[in-house]
Amino acid sequence: MYCFEELFKDESPQDYVCYNCQSKVSLNSSFGIKKWPIILIIQLLRFSAFDMPKMNKMVSCPITLELEKFIPKTNYNLFGVISHYGTLKYGHFKATVNWYKFDDNSVKKIAPNNIITSNAFVFFTKFRVKKNHSSSFSIWPTHQCL
Ligand SMILES: [Zn+2]
Repeated sequence: MYCFEELFKDESPQDYVCYNCQSKVSLNSSFGIKKWPIILIIQLLRFSAFDMPKMNKMVSCPITLELEKFIPKTNYNLFGVISHYGTLKYGHFKATVNWYKFDDNSVKKIAPNNIITSNAFVFFTKFRVKKNHSSSFSIWPTHQCL
C-alpha cells in the first residue's frame, strides 16, 4: 500500500521555475488512474541503469490488494508473479501463476506465503469488486462481479 500512497500523493514542488518566463511558480501536481484495468500489472524497477547492481530489496504484495482508498469498494487479487534471479547481464526467470511455480520444465504447487521473494519484480493482479458493493458505482458498464 505504501507504494500506491506514494504514487498517488499530491505534490507541491518547491522552487519550480517556469520554462517560459523563468519565474518561480507555485503549483500542485498529482497522478491518478481514470479508468482502472481488469488486470493490473505492477512492475518494480529492479534494474535502474547500466552498471548499477540489481535492487534486491524485498517488496511485499498482499494476496488481496485493498485499493479502496483510491477506488471505492474494490480490490485486486494477486494471481501471478514473475521473479528474476541473477543480474542485469544474465539471469533466470521463474513464474508463479495461481499458486503453481513454473521453472523451465518443472511445475510445482507452492504455498501463497512463499510466492513473494526479494526476486519478485512483476505482480499480476485481477480486479475484484467486493460482494457488498452497491450498484451506484461502476467502472466498466459490462463488468460482472467475479
Ligand atoms: Zn511563466
